[in-house]
Amino acid sequence: MKKTLLFILTLAAISCGSNNHISETSEVTITNVTKYANTITPTDLKNHLYIFASDEFEGRNTGTPGQKKASEYLKYFYINNNIQSPLGGNNYFQDIPTEHLNPNLNPSENVLAFIEGSEKPNEIIVISAHLDHLGTNNEEIYNGADDDGSGNVAILEIAEAFKKAVEDGNGPKRSILFLHVTGEEKGLLGSKYYVNNPIFPLKNTITNLNIDMIGRVDEIHEDGNPNYIYLIGSDKLSSELHNLSEEINEKFTQIDLDYKYNDEEDPNRFYYRSDHYNFAKNNIPIIFYFNGTHQDYHRPSDTPDKINYELLQKRTQLVFYTAWEIANRENRIVVDK
Ligand SMILES: [Zn+2]
Repeated sequence: MKKTLLFILTLAAISCGSNNHISETSEVTITNVTKYANTITPTDLKNHLYIFASDEFEGRNTGTPGQKKASEYLKYFYINNNIQSPLGGNNYFQDIPTEHLNPNLNPSENVLAFIEGSEKPNEIIVISAHLDHLGTNNEEIYNGADDDGSGNVAILEIAEAFKKAVEDGNGPKRSILFLHVTGEEKGLLGSKYYVNNPIFPLKNTITNLNIDMIGRVDEIHEDGNPNYIYLIGSDKLSSELHNLSEEINEKFTQIDLDYKYNDEEDPNRFYYRSDHYNFAKNNIPIIFYFNGTHQDYHRPSDTPDKINYELLQKRTQLVFYTAWEIANRENRIVVDK
């Protein structure tokens, strides 16, 4: 139903005549971006997450067979959707030698996929989430559905939405790198390896949007409005990034953007605790999307049945719209701090 309606709206916008060309063009653009955002659905997110956070993946502990299954799952998603690897051919893995992980860990890998920009392909937006989790302990599996299964399946759906735009001739002007990093739970090791061995020069990496836990509601919001997300870091390096993030949310998603944890004085120091920090350290503006901790955080009870899929959809769409704007605006966002 939604698809049919949007199709008609698009046709209506196109067929309104050419006497008011500028506003017609922007109408078409808005219709298009919404059309692609609407391909991100609760059902798709759920289907992916029930596999990605299943017992079969054994909690995805870095270097274990369960984690390798997670990497393979991501890789075959990109192959099946004809989304290329920046490494060439069917090689979607950036292998990380053991010495860059931890002496008692097996080798592991980051998983990367890429959509090349149509006008400014050398300017890169990185959308990231960590694919690893805590593994098993005392025969209990730590499924990590929210942490960070939610971030990985969000990226898959965002990649699919951009791919559909490309197929329609509406691909992003700048390039998007989808980066699933390993070793986060061991100390942000996969993202550290990436920034020390970047596939694209860091000076051309214009933003990192990092997603770590966006499928749940935290204790603070349990009895209140679930329509929120914590944003961390958006104003630290670029006022422009912060402002466009606010404007895009206002226009398309209307989520309560909560900056509680963005406070430098906050004792949790979340800004320093997920993968975006390795990009921020290199003067790359970042936004970290996070729902806060809850009673199942880092416990075997972080399972896919507890995810709010409508909320996950909406938050994923916020990241998609934000990436779309950064990729398509006239000028590269400015670092002014
Ligand atoms: Zn996490």
